[in-house]
Amino acid sequence: MARISPRERPDQETVLWPMQKLCPACGSPMRVRYENQRTLVTLAGSTRLRLKIRRCERVGCERYGHPWRPEAEGALALAKHEFGLDVIALAGVLRHRDHHSVPEIHQALRARGVEIAERSVTNLLDRYDELLATSLTDSRRLRAMLAKQGRVILALDGLQSEVGHEVLWVVRDCISGEVLLARSLLSGTAANLASLLRDVVEAVGVPVVGIVSDGQTSIRRAVERTLPGVLHQLC
Ligand SMILES: [Zn+2]
Repeated sequence: MARISPRERPDQETVLWPMQKLCPACGSPMRVRYENQRTLVTLAGSTRLRLKIRRCERVGCERYGHPWRPEAEGALALAKHEFGLDVIALAGVLRHRDHHSVPEIHQALRARGVEIAERSVTNLLDRYDELLATSLTDSRRLRAMLAKQGRVILALDGLQSEVGHEVLWVVRDCISGEVLLARSLLSGTAANLASLLRDVVEAVGVPVVGIVSDGQTSIRRAVERTLPGVLHQLC
């Protein structure tokens, strides 16, 4: 009998709700209209994400019918990727800090219970490199998209690596879902994070109308310094 892969039988289920209740374009209430599901392989096992999706239904709004996904989704996974960001971050640290080969990384992930084929490790490393290479200042596509959108709502998340002090910091735009900047830092002091945020704020070219993060003190201080007066929502 064929073995049931954990990917078909997730260990856990997580329900995520979007925090933003008002349409960022027209300010009308956005109701939860449907649910999306995706299965994610993380270092803590595989999990089924149940994502509650809101949308703006005000006729004439530029965001009419556009989905608003839970902000926390992007802290766990990149769009359309079956492995969690924690798996990508670990693979990246093993590669770049410890200079492990692909077979060694494969072995290390398997030892942590991650069901992954060796060829997919190369894909994880490509994602990690792409993520760290994301730079608003170089990206004409991103800047043009943001200019059209007219505003951003930032999300700042830090993923602590399981094998050291490296933290992968990712800044996203919640309206478009795009990653704007990612950096691997050895310390997440308020000064480091403020400098990261300042780089994003200077490069987006449009107003930052909100920011979402967890309540870590260094993040709160960095936001107060960089974005005074901007609505800061804590998850
Ligand atoms: Zn709207």
